[in-house]
Amino acid sequence: MSHKHAIILLILIVIGVIAGVLAGWIWGPAMLGVAWMGDMFLTALKMLIVPLIIAAVISGVASLGDVRKLGRIGGATLAYYFITTGIAVFIGLVMVNLIQPGAGLNISGGEIPQKVLEKEETSASDILMSLISPNLIASAADTQLLPLIVFAIVFSAALTTIGKRGEHVIEFFNGVNDAMMKLVVWLMYFAPIGIFALVAGRLGKAGGGEQFMAEITAVGWHVVTVLSALAVHFVVLLLILFFVAGRGMDYLVGMLRALFTAFGTASSSATLPLTMECVRENKVDDRSVRFVLPLGSTVNMDGTALYEAAAVMFIAQAYGIDLTMGQQVIIFVTATLAAIGAAGIPEAGLVTMIIVLNAVGLPLEGIGLLLAVDWFLDRFRTSVNVWGDSVGAAVIDRLLRSKYSGMSP
Ligand code: ASP
Repeated sequence: MSHKHAIILLILIVIGVIAGVLAGWIWGPAMLGVAWMGDMFLTALKMLIVPLIIAAVISGVASLGDVRKLGRIGGATLAYYFITTGIAVFIGLVMVNLIQPGAGLNISGGEIPQKVLEKEETSASDILMSLISPNLIASAADTQLLPLIVFAIVFSAALTTIGKRGEHVIEFFNGVNDAMMKLVVWLMYFAPIGIFALVAGRLGKAGGGEQFMAEITAVGWHVVTVLSALAVHFVVLLLILFFVAGRGMDYLVGMLRALFTAFGTASSSATLPLTMECVRENKVDDRSVRFVLPLGSTVNMDGTALYEAAAVMFIAQAYGIDLTMGQQVIIFVTATLAAIGAAGIPEAGLVTMIIVLNAVGLPLEGIGLLLAVDWFLDRFRTSVNVWGDSVGAAVIDRLLRSKYSGMSP
């Protein structure tokens, strides 16, 4: 997409978000009538994900050349994910200790949401199990992307070892990838109307502005804590972008279409096609785009990790339970794991929060306290998730280009 088109589209998307908020706020449930347009946009995005991920990861890994480079890039990518997710959780914990959003609420009951009840037994080992799948087609159908990505990585590594025949297959997937990216650009033109309808429809479902305000004020300090912590982490990532990746503010501007889409869809997986296109337009090496972003969209969730830590601390405070320093360290570790395990779909973080709550022995009913505002906070944390991946792509891009790494093209 040309620079001029990208800017016009961005302006239209911003108008879409503002109009969506206003319409949902004022007309409330009446806006459910336009929700189908948002669903159509979301469904179209989801339609692209599976073929795009498979083609992108296969061609991305193959373009790295040999397996040693894959090891180095993979190691650097995972290091970036862990360090930034750790920083995010740390910021969440510091903010929640400073603001004490749950202090004095004195709540003892709550309702365990159905989708949480179904997964009550979730534990940290499930995260390792989620790397593989007995049935790739079923995983694709359920948008469980991690096994698909793992398969694509090893499949591609295998292709690079079988000579000419492997090259033909890689060439095929290169073509599929290019065609998929074309589809993404076409679909992007529908983003303003799609995001408008998604935002207006969701606010309408919440009963419009007044009802939404009433719900939000009940847990107002929790909302303030999460939003301010997310804002701080956003800035930290911006600093990483400047000083580690050596990029400027224009990189952020180039990413805004994807960030607003993340806000509209509350799904980093559904946003992935746009994230990839925006990062590509930001002149990031294709090898980084195709490898770092698909993996990051399911594994690297800074916003979710921060949210899980802050929310669990909030629950403890609301129940009047004091958590020791040691327990907060447990929250630090399990919130990081829970975010890795969360799928890139709306409100997935709420379900993997079970891991964190169980680890420190807090009642699962606490999740009931967060339900009313979770869909709202989800949009912000998803945008931060996507922002974290985008900055990661720029960091790895710099590494790939650095003449000292021996990885330059
Ligand atoms: N909705 C988030 C995402 O897709 C996951 C979550 O935090 O619930 O990135």
